[in-house]
Amino acid sequence: MMGRTHDLAAFAALSYMVATQPPQSITLATGITSLLACFVGGLAPDIDQPTADLWRRLPAGSVIGRIFHPFLGGHRYISHSVVGIIFFAWFSKFLLSKIGQVLLVDINIVWAAFMIGFISHLIMDTFTHEGVPWLFPIPFRFGLPPLKMLRIKTGGFLEKSVVFPGLLFLTGYIYYLHYGKFLELLRHYIK
Ligand SMILES: [Zn+2]
Repeated sequence: MMGRTHDLAAFAALSYMVATQPPQSITLATGITSLLACFVGGLAPDIDQPTADLWRRLPAGSVIGRIFHPFLGGHRYISHSVVGIIFFAWFSKFLLSKIGQVLLVDINIVWAAFMIGFISHLIMDTFTHEGVPWLFPIPFRFGLPPLKMLRIKTGGFLEKSVVFPGLLFLTGYIYYLHYGKFLELLRHYIK
C-alpha cells in the first residue's frame, strides 16, 4: 500500500478507537502527540524498505533506510509479523518511557496510538499481492482474499480508485456516527 493509504487507514483506526472507547481526559499535548505517533506507527513497518515513505519524509532518510535494510532482512519480513509487533511494542514503549517525561504527555495513550497505526499497516498490507508473513520466521505470506490474483496491487488502480476513497468514506462515516463524542472532545479543549 502507498504511504498515504497507510496514513488514512491509521487515522481511521485511531478515530474508531477514540469514538468507541470511554472518554478519557487527555491534555492537548497528549492528543497531538498521539495523532503524530499514530501516523509514525502507520508507516513504521516499512522501515525495512529503503524507498519507504517513512524514509522519504526524513532528511537523509533514504541513506538511513539503506543502512537499516539488510538488518531487517529485506522488505516485508520481521517488521510485518507478530514478532515485529511485539518487538516494536517493546521498543516504542522503551523510547517513550525515556522521552515521555520531557514531552509532558501520557505515554500510555501515545503508545496505544502508535500501536494502532502499526497494526493497521499490517492489516492493510494483508490485502495486497505480496501478503504479510504474519508468523515470521515461518516463510508463509498470508493474504486476503487467499487467491493472490484477487488482491490489491500497491499503487494500482484498485488502491487509488477504490481503497483510498473507500477509507475516506469510512472515516467520514465514523465521524458522522459519533459526531457527539468528537464534539465533546473538541469542546473540552476549546473552553
Ligand atoms: Zn508494509
